[in-house]
Amino acid sequence: MLNELNGKVLIDGALVKGKGPQSPVENPANGAQIGAIATAQPAEIEAAVSAARAAFGPWAALPAVTRAKHLHALGDAIAQDADPMARLMTLEQGKPVNEARGEIMKLAETCHFYAEEATRIHGETIPNDTTDMESTVLREPIGVVGAITPWNYPAELVGWKLCGALAAGCTIIIKPAEITPFTALAIGQKCIDAGIPRGVVNVLTGPGSVVGQALVEHPGVDKIAFTGSSKVGLHIQKSATTVKRMALELGGNCPLVVTQTADLDAAVKGAARRSFRNCGQICIAINRIYVARPVYDAFITKLAEAADALTIDDGLSNPGADMGPMASAEPLAKTKEHLADAVAKGARVLAGGAAPVGDEYENGHFFRPTVVADCTHDMQIMTEETFGPIVGVAPFDTLSEAVTLANDTPYGLASYVYAKSADEIRYLGQRLDYGNVAVNNVDAGIINAPYGGRKQSGVGYEHGREGMLEYMNFKHLRVRYDLPEGAG
Ligand code: NAD
Repeated sequence: MLNELNGKVLIDGALVKGKGPQSPVENPANGAQIGAIATAQPAEIEAAVSAARAAFGPWAALPAVTRAKHLHALGDAIAQDADPMARLMTLEQGKPVNEARGEIMKLAETCHFYAEEATRIHGETIPNDTTDMESTVLREPIGVVGAITPWNYPAELVGWKLCGALAAGCTIIIKPAEITPFTALAIGQKCIDAGIPRGVVNVLTGPGSVVGQALVEHPGVDKIAFTGSSKVGLHIQKSATTVKRMALELGGNCPLVVTQTADLDAAVKGAARRSFRNCGQICIAINRIYVARPVYDAFITKLAEAADALTIDDGLSNPGADMGPMASAEPLAKTKEHLADAVAKGARVLAGGAAPVGDEYENGHFFRPTVVADCTHDMQIMTEETFGPIVGVAPFDTLSEAVTLANDTPYGLASYVYAKSADEIRYLGQRLDYGNVAVNNVDAGIINAPYGGRKQSGVGYEHGREGMLEYMNFKHLRVRYDLPEGAG
């Protein structure tokens, strides 16, 4: 699969060799070069935008049920090739194959979900002050979408945009992260296989500051759907040269509150999963945990044991490993920086704190799952996004203190609670200032409910009906009717 995608871009229905300079793509488990991407050139960017513009009218004019058929076909094509697509993802991103396969299957599910949503694009009629007037609200696709995505979920983060946009009747140009381009190109290939008309889906590769920025500034791109860091999101918002719709899904620093009534074993299991899965490279990873003081010692002891029990390996040769390498040197360096900062300020390392030992780890970006106790809010780990396999833990005395601490960052993406008392759940559920609050579970996002951040975690929603309406304009059509001649 990789050979067919290496160095390619997808423009106007054809996967072709990119004309620009090539940069290497590496396997994060061992540093070996697996392929290269071409930096899309201005003429290629123009060609992609022109193709998407030309395809927009006919695609939007298709009956919704026909767009739905295309999306169902895409979901089937992706599910059929889930194994090679998963291995490709592991090769460029590092997550173990079983986890990558799960992500590919969720992408297929997303295609089917939005296929069905496409057939439910309803309007509204609104009563007027006089009976001769009628207001109708129509929903119309925005146009050409520029989708700019990060590397941590190379399939799903493309898929939410692709499927929402296509269901709505938009066309799209995808610019994936530099280090995980091949999953996006493979999705592009599947769009061709599924018979999606040429120009509807295009994929351009290259540096964000060049190719992504060109889409942001291009007057022919009507909407930017961006997932990535808060820093780049803010830059994109500021640097658009024309007014255009934007959805910005940005960074997070997500808290977990464990109350005295919590099922402690369930809380530990949830915390270990959501702190360390995908090496903590999840925007909704649990980054910090506040634990009621009476159960604090028991919780941190159990969490350290759970972290130490996780297996770390090359996810290609060991598909069932709990953790693979981190995706690149950059998040690994930040993880080490946040760890050193916490230790220097008095935190205790209870698990991890270093790379695993062994020849097989020597050339990869591996790091052990790390639990740091007795943390305070002057430590980076408690207020900044780490995006690594490390979690800070601190005790609290009252629920209102837990809420204050949990809300004390610029972020508002997801938060978690473990508690048995309904009163505690209600108290925390109402006060946590986050777009997603998961209670007694750690899966804050499901495909049929809206998912989005507050504060510096972004604007806009993906998933759910809302994730399709993001790609639509509303039109108010207000008509005055006369009684027809001869009505009597
Ligand atoms: P990033 O912001 O560095 O890059 C994201 C994408 O933006 C890449 O494709 C990159 O090439 C592109 N880009 C960079 N500069 C650009 C510019 N000037 N103009 C246009 N595009 C540009 O993020 P990353 O390191 O790839 O991903 C990690 C970040 O993504 C984390 O902060 C994480 O929290 C965030 N994230 C958020 C969500 C969410 O749903 N809120 C989901 C996953 C990841």
